[in-house]
Amino acid sequence: MVVVMQERASDEQVQKVIAKLVEMGFDVHRSTGALRTVLGAVGSSRNYDTALIEVLDGVQEVMRITEPYKLASRTFKPDNTVITIGDLRIGGDEVIVMAGPCSAENENQVEAAAAAVKRAGAKVLRGGAFKPRSSPYSFQGLGEEGLRMLRAAADRHTLKLVSEIMDISQLEMMDRYADILQVGARNMQNFHLLRELGRSKKPILLKRGISATIEEWLLSAEYILAGGNMNVMLCERGIRTFESYTRNTFDISAIPVVQKLSHLPVLADPSHGTGKRDKVAPMARAAVAAGCDGLLIEVHADPDHALSDGAQSLFPSQFDRLMAELRIIAPAIGRSICLEPVTKRGWGGSR
Ligand code: PEP
Ligand code: MN
Repeated sequence: MVVVMQERASDEQVQKVIAKLVEMGFDVHRSTGALRTVLGAVGSSRNYDTALIEVLDGVQEVMRITEPYKLASRTFKPDNTVITIGDLRIGGDEVIVMAGPCSAENENQVEAAAAAVKRAGAKVLRGGAFKPRSSPYSFQGLGEEGLRMLRAAADRHTLKLVSEIMDISQLEMMDRYADILQVGARNMQNFHLLRELGRSKKPILLKRGISATIEEWLLSAEYILAGGNMNVMLCERGIRTFESYTRNTFDISAIPVVQKLSHLPVLADPSHGTGKRDKVAPMARAAVAAGCDGLLIEVHADPDHALSDGAQSLFPSQFDRLMAELRIIAPAIGRSICLEPVTKRGWGGSR
């Protein structure tokens, strides 16, 4: 249930309500907004009477949350969640672009991609060091060596770093290198991993599973939130359908659907969403027009020789052009993208 406290409710009144909820068997999550405190009570399997809470001093309203996910729902938290990492805000007015190679391959490749995406206006470097590949014979990533390269390139170019965690045994190491931990589509329902990430303080980028419904996706986010980590962003990356022309079917409608159901930031990954380089820019433009809070895009200086996902990786010049287009689209719906000039050569210059 959600307990909305009155605007003038004192901290003592809030504490009494929390104590009563705990006595009734709930775990309580407190959300303190600009005007009032909202308490999310989850986890009690007992029958309960909301009137027991309604009568307490300082309580404005008590609502049962009908959605199976509670903390991820807008009923619990009507205001958008904004995730802050240093000076970066994800979920605010600015559309945050995260870009870089599918995988870290070597120093030069990581450096070339980081320099290119920074110049074009990305704020976060993406790159995998642990790769979930369909075939055990495909390149599996460089592991810690790849993380070191990615971190060094991100620091050289004042970028944040997002990288995929595949197993909880990697958490301690990944924590040292990455600013955002990505949970890949194949791990969206690895509930043990999600629970452990709930104990971490690191922002989590949770991709939609390959054939997950939006409700299942939000329930996976709930695992992380219920553990106490409220820094969760979602990422639509295409789902498997009967269509075979594209690698996946990029579900742009998931963006407004999730934004209505949840307060969490929603990103879009048109690279995995389509699997084909020439489809990435149109879908990125559409995702921004649909209101996404950020993009995750694969960029490689020499995609034809990439060790993974070359066919869907943009050349730097294509990424430059896309960013210039997004700077026209975003303001049309009241959003911005990297307003400050990045280089003397200006925005959108193609090489
Ligand atoms: C990736 O971003 O490199 C990746 C493997 O994505 P997904 O989990 O969406 O397939
Ligand atoms: Mn990839």
